[in-house]
Amino acid sequence: MLKPIPIIICLAFSAQLLLGQSFSVEKQRALDAIMQQEKEMIRMSDQIWALAETALEETESYKILADYAESQGFRVERGVAEMPTAFIATYGSGSPIIGILGEFDALPGISQQAVPEKKPLKEGAAGHGCGHNLFGVGSLGAAVAIKELMETGQLKGTIRFYGTPAEEKYFGKLYMARAGLFDDLDACLDWHPSDKISANVQSSLALVDFIVEFYGQAAHASSDPWNGRSAVDGLELYTTGINYLREHIKPTVRIHYHIQHGGDVVNVVPDYAKVWTRVRDSKREGMEVVYERVKKIAEGAAIMANVDYKITLVSGLHEVLVNRTGGAVLQKNLDALGPITYTEAETAFAHSIQKATGKPLIGIDGNIYPLEVTKENPEGGSTDVGDVSWLVPEIRLGVTTAPTDTPWHSWAVVACGGMSIGHKGMVYASKALALTMVDLYTNPAIIDEMKKEFKERKGNASYKAILPEGPPPVPGN
Ligand SMILES: [Zn+2]
Repeated sequence: MLKPIPIIICLAFSAQLLLGQSFSVEKQRALDAIMQQEKEMIRMSDQIWALAETALEETESYKILADYAESQGFRVERGVAEMPTAFIATYGSGSPIIGILGEFDALPGISQQAVPEKKPLKEGAAGHGCGHNLFGVGSLGAAVAIKELMETGQLKGTIRFYGTPAEEKYFGKLYMARAGLFDDLDACLDWHPSDKISANVQSSLALVDFIVEFYGQAAHASSDPWNGRSAVDGLELYTTGINYLREHIKPTVRIHYHIQHGGDVVNVVPDYAKVWTRVRDSKREGMEVVYERVKKIAEGAAIMANVDYKITLVSGLHEVLVNRTGGAVLQKNLDALGPITYTEAETAFAHSIQKATGKPLIGIDGNIYPLEVTKENPEGGSTDVGDVSWLVPEIRLGVTTAPTDTPWHSWAVVACGGMSIGHKGMVYASKALALTMVDLYTNPAIIDEMKKEFKERKGNASYKAILPEGPPPVPGN
């Protein structure tokens, strides 16, 4: 759900200087293991792309990944954290225990063929507008490469792949975090499709999702409106209150709402109204302050409209706790791998995408950027990787899978994720993650340093998943 952040001009094409880079025996073995899987990885990612299953209904997509892990000798635990499509695949034993995250859910309503013009694969169906078909397979490919090095005795420890469903809605990792499934990890890695390649050392926004419902009294809207109490009046006063609040919140705060029920017919005073609200801020503490204010606005609106109201927490996300130590290790591996290069046909495809979305025709960016300064207040969206990053030091990667400036969560990202631009990014991510994991397994000092930074950044804060009691909202349960 993260939208890539615009590119900072001023590039250092350090990778150019590193052509002909040679890797250690272990790293070369890991790269070979990924090249051996390349065809299979592309096949799986295309399958998941075409299935385009959404939150907690990824029943076929998850199986493709879990079955592959099992066929590679991993011990697979399916249906973890009360979610049928969540799973953990483990290989090896003892420490260090390194985790790698893989998402595979799609977004509703943006079905698209792998062509550079808007053309649904199946009208009204879902599509992989965040590239999660690539995300899950790319991460699993890296885990399998590490497994092969463990098999030959070149690496020691445990590798654990997390099949994490429902990132776009419901935030599957929250339930896995609440179940304690990340607690014994020494380090964790993830990547995300993007329009640039970078070791991601920026945080994300914390958020809280909640439903506000208003309950009034129905009456004839003309004959006896004085007998009615309008739930929609409550809703309108509530959203008006939010919009007045906007002037008095910090620029880092975002408030969104989506009216889900606003009465049924025009001649009845509506007795029920429902609105989904989301509050975000760059830090959880700031988000909580605004959340409390908005709850009071709901109360005030209900008093004014003389109706009852109810607030129900859906869930909330923590901002990402950045780990620059891990980011720097990843950066070295990106520099060693060098940029992604594209064929003329791929560049032409990118230009068509840019033309169709009204963007300058600047093509695809496969360059490696230097490690960024971590911003105090990040831009962009939120991710449930944030919650994992409060439990274990997290290394994060972004890899180009779409042309520069492609509108995210759109048909254009779906199109690129089903063809070679997306495939190249996926295989590249797999290599970068595998190389970085080789560093973690062979150099324990890195994990020690990562843990030290993690402790410093976390301070005295304790982690608790922002969730109501009860099981995850699995459809059909
Ligand atoms: Zn995403």
